Amino acid sequence: MSEQLKPCPFCGNIPYIEKIPLWHGSHGYYGCFKFDIHCDKCGCTVNLGKNNTIYTDEKQALNNAINAWNRRTKTK
Ligand SMILES: [Zn+2]
Repeated sequence: MSEQLKPCPFCGNIPYIEKIPLWHGSHGYYGCFKFDIHCDKCGCTVNLGKNNTIYTDEKQALNNAINAWNRRTKTK
């Protein structure tokens, strides 16, 4: 079970999750992903902490991203 995403703290829109491969460019983390959470209404972004799969598995990385987003919602 994943955490539920809370609405955007600025505009109330429901954000979307994007899964991005990390091996584009010169980074070389082949097979690793990161999860970004975006609001396509106001375009705000959040520092999502350990949102990649370099040091953790995919499910944990996704949960880290969602938890970081939800904490941001509470503080604003
Ligand atoms: Zn927004």
